[in-house]
Amino acid sequence: MQFKSHMQAALAEAEAAAARGEVPVGAVIVAPSGAVVARAGNRTRELNDPTAHAEILAIRAACAALGSERLVGYDLYVTLEPCPMCAAALSNARIARLYYGAGDPKSGGVAQGPRIFAHPQCHHVPEVYDGIAADPAEKLLKDFFAARR
Ligand SMILES: [Zn+2]
Repeated sequence: MQFKSHMQAALAEAEAAAARGEVPVGAVIVAPSGAVVARAGNRTRELNDPTAHAEILAIRAACAALGSERLVGYDLYVTLEPCPMCAAALSNARIARLYYGAGDPKSGGVAQGPRIFAHPQCHHVPEVYDGIAADPAEKLLKDFFAARR
C-alpha cells in the first residue's frame, strides 16, 4: 500500500536525523501524481533554528521546488504528530492530507493540546490519518531519548 511506503520514507528520514544527533522525526511530501517531492528530518541543532522541524523543512523544500507558496493537493507524511507550529504551517500550505505515526502527548498540536485544525481560526483543514507505522516511529524516539539519559 502506498501510504505505508511513504511512511517508510519518512521513517528513514527520522533514522537519519537520529544519526545526526537530532530528535528523530522525519517527513515526506507527496505530489498528487504520487511522486515524493521533498523529504526532511529535524535539523534544529545543526541549523541553530528552533523552527527547523522535519515538516517545516519539507514544506519549504517542496514550495521552493514548485515555485509556489501553496501545496494544494499535496500530502504530508510525518513520523510524529505535528506540533502546533507545524500544524499551522500545514494549514497555511494547504496540504490536502496529513498522515502521521506516533501521537505526541508532550508536544502534539493536532489530536491533543491546542488541536490546531479544530480551531475556528484555522482556515484550511487537511484530512488527518493517524497511527500509520506508529510503533517504529515511537521506538525511534524512545531509543533516542533513552540513549541521552
Ligand atoms: Zn513541529
